[in-house]
Amino acid sequence: MLGTTTPTFAPFSVEQHAQLLASLGHAVIATDERGLIRFWNRAAEELYGWTADEVMGRDVTSVTPGPASEHEAQAIMQTLLRGESWRGAFEVRRKDGTTFLADVTDTPVFDEQKNLIGIVGVSLDLSAQRRAEERARFLADAARVLALPLELHETLTQLAQLSVPVFGDLSVVYRVGDDGMAHRVASAHVDPARRHLIEDLERDYPVSVDGSAPVPHVLRSHQPLFLPEVHVRDLDVPDERYREIAKALDVCSLVVVPLLARGRVRGALVLATVSTRAGGSGRRFVEDDARIAESLGTLGALALDNVLLLRDAERARGQAEEANRAKSAFLAAMSHELRTPLNAIGGYVELLEMELRGPVTDAQRVDLARIRRSQQHLTGLIDNVLNFVRAETGHLQFRIENVSLASVFRDVEDLVLPQLRTKGLRFSREHVDDALKVRADSERLRQILVNLLTNALKYTPAGGEIALSVSDRRDAVLVRVRDSGIGIPADMLEAVFEPFVQVGQPSTAVSEGIGLGLAISRDFARRMGGDISVESETGVGSTFTVRLTKPSGFGA
Ligand code: ADP
Repeated sequence: MLGTTTPTFAPFSVEQHAQLLASLGHAVIATDERGLIRFWNRAAEELYGWTADEVMGRDVTSVTPGPASEHEAQAIMQTLLRGESWRGAFEVRRKDGTTFLADVTDTPVFDEQKNLIGIVGVSLDLSAQRRAEERARFLADAARVLALPLELHETLTQLAQLSVPVFGDLSVVYRVGDDGMAHRVASAHVDPARRHLIEDLERDYPVSVDGSAPVPHVLRSHQPLFLPEVHVRDLDVPDERYREIAKALDVCSLVVVPLLARGRVRGALVLATVSTRAGGSGRRFVEDDARIAESLGTLGALALDNVLLLRDAERARGQAEEANRAKSAFLAAMSHELRTPLNAIGGYVELLEMELRGPVTDAQRVDLARIRRSQQHLTGLIDNVLNFVRAETGHLQFRIENVSLASVFRDVEDLVLPQLRTKGLRFSREHVDDALKVRADSERLRQILVNLLTNALKYTPAGGEIALSVSDRRDAVLVRVRDSGIGIPADMLEAVFEPFVQVGQPSTAVSEGIGLGLAISRDFARRMGGDISVESETGVGSTFTVRLTKPSGFGA
């Protein structure tokens, strides 16, 4: 029957009708056709604050409509006289003068001759629903704002400002400092002119986390604290000046929530209402408010936790970068220092071999050759370290030009052939046309191929075979270094290109490298627009393929 738009034809009297509606538990008011109150149920007594006796016989438009809606009340009456029901949100007034928003349904009642004999109004208080909606919106807004990536200071300020004045009149964010004190790091007040009071407190009245005040209590217990009624006279104040400040702030109601994230207390949030005398709403928080404050605290703590984690991560990254720079500087300096005496060793060996210091016996010549090989090996290792450091610090210049592959092959072969022979390995090299050019830094390309061939040599037992081949593709030139050596396990095929990674060697084979050759070679190849890949089978051998780009406009 509620909300119908057709007139109701009832055999009941108005009172009977109203009694029926009273069972709904909503406030029910019935009037006669002149608008004089004839029925006022218990729910109406509770909602409006008037007893039935007080209002019986009075004109309803002079009793319930709020001041803003008296005019509207006349218009509603017109609708009802036409025989239509009216339903809508309507501001109504209590006996004490306070107003609230009600959902009102007014229905005209007619007798059998279709004469209007009265009106039945049912009203429902919407303010609780309104407040619930406002709270939901408040939390949603807070979540949106706090989810933005903010700096620490901004996050704290936002957290303080979000709730004033929509939720409370005053808010203070506390953070525990290294000094063991809870500092008021951000605050907001409905009356900005009073914010300095909180700053005065922060300056002159530090809060120890061991103290008994609400904030330290919450910081220690991790539990929210709700004080619906606060009176300055009850406060335990350290001195008269503090009492003066407390009086000027005049807090009426208080909620303190811990800013708790991942089990850690990041601080506390104080939300308060203040008296109208002190520029506030004079409102008292209720249980629901305390719960909202707790939710706001959770949102704030998460935001704060994120900011702090990010800050820690950035600090750690800065420290790691600093450590890496120090490591690179050390490696560069050390390699440089080692290279000078090594070059001297090479020079003096050469001097001796040339017999400039007198005749050399055959046995001495063999020893000199060993010294020279060791010197070259060490120089190669140090060069790799230097290249790695330079590549890492971006101090590596590339001169990319059209390079004849055949000439690079010849240089490389000269370097590795003696060692291949010494170890008893067979070597084959595909013929390359002098005209075949690639885009490369010739010195770096040489280093790549020396690295790959030296590896093939290191990881292929005597009697094995090493082959260098080329395929000229339409878009690239592929250079392959194939060996019949020990191979690389499938799960290490990518890892071998990482710096300092070496596949576990059998204890008999002493590793001669430091695991930088492939990392450097791939880096070089990539900087020249190409790449290096590997295919391998343990016990069968490995094939490293260097892809190089071709000069544009040159033959495919
Ligand atoms: P290293 O100085 O140890 O040779 P590399 O970066 O050149 O450093 O190679 C990394 C690792 O990859 C080597 O320690 C070795 O275990 C493996 N490896 C490289 N080339 C070969 C190959 N041709 N055959 C088998 N294993 C290889």
